[in-house]
Amino acid sequence: MNVSGIKNDCVLCGACEAICPHSCISVNRHLELDDEKCTDCSLCYEICPAVHSLWNLGGIADSSRHYDADIGSYCSTGFAAPEEKKYLSEGTSAGMTRAFLNHALECGVIDATVVVETQGFKPAVKNEVNGSIARSVYLRLPLLKVLGELDEKKKYAVVALPCQLQALDNMQRRGYYTNVILKVGLFCGMNMQHDVVDDIKSVLRLKESNIKNFDFRGGKHPGGLHIETKSGKIHAYSKHLYKFLNLLYLPRRCFYCNDFMSEFSDISFGDAWNEYLYRYDEHARWNSVVCRSEKAKQLFEKGVSKGKFKFVSARPEDLKQLFGFNIAFKKKWLAMRILAANKKYLYRDFQSGKLGMVKQIFYLPVYCAMSVLRTVAARRFFKLLYPAIFSLFSTRPRK
Ligand SMILES: Cc1cc2nc3c(=O)[nH]c(=O)nc-3n(C[C@H](O)[C@H](O)[C@H](O)COP(=O)(O)OP(=O)(O)OC[C@H]3O[C@@H](n4cnc5c(N)ncnc54)[C@H](O)[C@@H]3O)c2cc1C
Ligand code: SF4
Ligand code: SF4
Ligand code: SF4
Repeated sequence: MNVSGIKNDCVLCGACEAICPHSCISVNRHLELDDEKCTDCSLCYEICPAVHSLWNLGGIADSSRHYDADIGSYCSTGFAAPEEKKYLSEGTSAGMTRAFLNHALECGVIDATVVVETQGFKPAVKNEVNGSIARSVYLRLPLLKVLGELDEKKKYAVVALPCQLQALDNMQRRGYYTNVILKVGLFCGMNMQHDVVDDIKSVLRLKESNIKNFDFRGGKHPGGLHIETKSGKIHAYSKHLYKFLNLLYLPRRCFYCNDFMSEFSDISFGDAWNEYLYRYDEHARWNSVVCRSEKAKQLFEKGVSKGKFKFVSARPEDLKQLFGFNIAFKKKWLAMRILAANKKYLYRDFQSGKLGMVKQIFYLPVYCAMSVLRTVAARRFFKLLYPAIFSLFSTRPRK
């Protein structure tokens, strides 16, 4: 069995392209599979995070770490920020991801890192951390296909979304790419289909050849959609525009995703919209951080003790409160989303008494509405309103 049947649920992670022994698969904006070359070895199917998406999160508690159903396994939780200004200005949230990667490179723990490049949002292997690494790109990108290019003798870190880390975990359990020794996870609430970029360009009447820079989190922190044309014009929108776009362009797999804080990572970073932290310094920027493995915790603490990062410890409950909506969406409303995605076989597994008849009836209109919103017809309808909606979220460009 191969992955040709799961096309609609594909997260375009690129893992199957890397692992296929006969180079039958190519993943870019779509998944393409050459059935004639396929020997039906099933490897791609076994590691695909769209096939094995639920109920196998990486949570374990042992003597060195705790487990929480919403956060996953963790050693410590809190908020962090790099001391060096360049990470703050280049980063999406506070730039901890790139600061942590650089620290791992400087300590000699890794030789290179697998990230996304700013130009063309392409996955790349980099042995230095600089401005060519992309800020958050709200698209599914085939990050893991570059694993096929790694040097077996070198050690790597990867920065990835929860579903991409699920695929990597599936591969490493089978003995592949075990030289990726550091998994840096990103929190992930939702993602979008590539059509969103085409539609944004068509609403703003922008040609690809006229665009100088397309940034999903551009402009002054917290940033938003920021498009700079070659003639110097900037189209800037508040990040709240994504609340609307997310619903219309949500990929099917994201609809029934149950990992928010990258539970398969060694360490994971997210935003930190925390008023408590900003009360003392409104310009302060922070990342939420969950240290999960002992090795990542030690590396992180070394960075803190050397003055590279500042860290404020917070209880898991504080993080859960901060991300109440995301956790509710990913964990508590999961049954409803599985039904709306028409994944009834998953629902049967999940249900086991967790969602009673009364709640199902209560949720019915909600999941019907969500299903309708995700259809092409809904998108066509809302496209008529796009000019008005985009001008509503338009902001002054702020560098
Ligand atoms: C699709 C998506 C959804 C997200 N949703 C949330 C959310 O709901 N709540 C929240 O708190 N945080 C979310 N994040 C994470 C958040 O946007 C920041 O990435 C995170 O806080 C780290 O910030 P930073 O300043 O340390 O990152 P930076 O130092 O700027 O590093 C960003 C890193 O992200 C990598 N990257 C960018 N886009 C992608 C991509 N599409 N796939 C894989 N890797 C990528 C780059 O390679 C880079 O290493 C999301 C990120 C993405 C990509
Ligand atoms: S989700 Fe990943 S592994 Fe599965 S088919 Fe898509 S690209 Fe391949
Ligand atoms: S079943 Fe095996 S040969 Fe066929 S596409 Fe998948 S990995 Fe390649
Ligand atoms: S919501 Fe889940 S499936 Fe979608 S991109 Fe994020 S981690 Fe992957």
